[in-house]
Amino acid sequence: MKKEKKQSSLSQLLYYAGNHKYLMYASWILATISAFIALMPFYYIWLIIKEIVEVRPDFNNAVNIQTNGWYAVITSFLAYIIYIAGLMCSHKAAFRVQSNMRMEMMNHVMKLPMGYIESQGSGKILKIVSKSSAATETYIAHNLPDKAVSYATPIGLIAMMLFFDWRIGLICLIPALLAFLSMGSMMGKAMQDSMKEYQDSLETMSAEAVEYVRGIPVLKTFGQTIYSFKRFKTAIDKYEKWTIAYTISMTMPMVLFTTFSNGIFAAIVICAYVFGGNGVTDMLVFNILFYVIITPILTMTLMKVAYAGESQMIVMDALNRMHELLDVKPLSESDKPQEPADSSICMDNVSFKYPDATENAISNMSMIIKPGQHVAFVGPSGGGKTTIASLIARFWDVIEGSISIGGVNVKDISTKELMKHVSYVFQDSKLLKMSILDNVRLGKKDATEAEVMQALRDAQCMDIIEKFPDGIHTIIGTEGVFVSGGEAQRLSIARAFLKNAPILILDEATAFADPDNEQKVQQAFAKLSKDKTVIMIAHRLSTVVDVDCIYVLNNGQIQESGTHKELLAVGGIYSHMWNEYNKTIKWKVGKAS
Ligand code: ADP
Repeated sequence: MKKEKKQSSLSQLLYYAGNHKYLMYASWILATISAFIALMPFYYIWLIIKEIVEVRPDFNNAVNIQTNGWYAVITSFLAYIIYIAGLMCSHKAAFRVQSNMRMEMMNHVMKLPMGYIESQGSGKILKIVSKSSAATETYIAHNLPDKAVSYATPIGLIAMMLFFDWRIGLICLIPALLAFLSMGSMMGKAMQDSMKEYQDSLETMSAEAVEYVRGIPVLKTFGQTIYSFKRFKTAIDKYEKWTIAYTISMTMPMVLFTTFSNGIFAAIVICAYVFGGNGVTDMLVFNILFYVIITPILTMTLMKVAYAGESQMIVMDALNRMHELLDVKPLSESDKPQEPADSSICMDNVSFKYPDATENAISNMSMIIKPGQHVAFVGPSGGGKTTIASLIARFWDVIEGSISIGGVNVKDISTKELMKHVSYVFQDSKLLKMSILDNVRLGKKDATEAEVMQALRDAQCMDIIEKFPDGIHTIIGTEGVFVSGGEAQRLSIARAFLKNAPILILDEATAFADPDNEQKVQQAFAKLSKDKTVIMIAHRLSTVVDVDCIYVLNNGQIQESGTHKELLAVGGIYSHMWNEYNKTIKWKVGKAS
């Protein structure tokens, strides 16, 4: 949906409603009819009062009271029923819009680069998808019919006010008009920008709050205060500043609006005084009474219009957020996808920069990995190991140069085919809230239970399965079910066993809770790597000694490459790293003995 970016929020919502847009129209028509009918009981009540005053003190002559009373009840009831019918239509349309928006956003997210999703965090994307669609649901289901009511009611009221006594009507309309004008200053473009700022600062503050809560253990351990989380404090300060400035800027318009909208009563008093000066007639009393009855509705309606404006700004902001997500470019799919001939990897002069970064994360990198070769990426943190590995799996597209698998540029391999060729075992393994069986089955959806068991055995997971009474049917994430980082990584290795892709990218965990776990993960890795092209992002040098080629990455470039022995002979960065590594090992051993 490209064209609607400049369209109003309403036409965008109508677009998402599809055929259900007629239900939206129906809801507005029904709400309008209901608003007009809802004014009729006031007329009947006025007739009742009029009759009582006219027949006083002989109340037995008041014969129409009951009938008018019934009319008042029936018309109120009718207005209510019609309004409910309108709400039913609006809800049906709202649910359709919500589901269409969610589907469009999720379909789009599925095509986005994995790297984008990883860098944004699934929580943030989910928030945009669910919150923006939920905001439109409330708007269509409730606010739009209410808006129809809040436009129809003043029209009906003004007509009635002018019909009963146009002089009193006109005088009462003056404060109503002033209230309406002061309300205008609380809306408009400037207000819309403010609303965006508000939503932005709220979002930043919640994101920082999550970071803060996550960091509480560190804060406690080192006896720090909230001021250590400078960004969180800045976010709170910014929010506070915005809220105070907003409240101050709204004071005057709000005071004027409340004064004028409630000032309609004062207008009635003035009318009573001015028009009663020449003698109070029964008719004047009835009319004044009528205005006393109906003017609170006018005040209430004006309030509703004010709130309708606010909800419109919320929905506009929600739609803008949705467009920000929809504007992220998906990865291109080739018209003529090709299949890789083998599991070799060739990088030719690759450069890459993260979307918001100023400097390249990878610069002019070239390498050839033959089928079945095992290579390791080592080097200082931030050197580009994870980035280059994620470019091979096409989590991002390179900005210069090319990456080929089996002789075919990854851009010319369909996503499905590429995923068949590459398994990526992440450092922080992602397990979903489903049974262990289903979690592992994500590697191959038609795998039998026996195949899953074999994969679990190969990935050294049997101790995890035996720990839980429900075995492989244990649901991850339910109460009492806890798997450590190392266990989660072994379960995801089981997934990779099932998938059995010819290229394997292993992001070794930086730290393991216990040596037993580490040993099991290493065994599982070794078995999984057999007969595959393997790229290991290594954080400890003990694991890279036997690989076919070690690439030392620094500042997004290959600084050295070769086998362990060759690199030691060179006496460069790697040999320095190796010496440092051995010192720490000796230090650890020395400490332990
Ligand atoms: P390594 O895996 O060697 O620790 P990375 O590949 O993670 O290094 O990082 C390489 C460079 O790219 C670093 O300068 C890092 O700050 C930057 N970087 C990594 N991820 C992102 C991201 N999502 N957005 C922006 N910059 C990033």
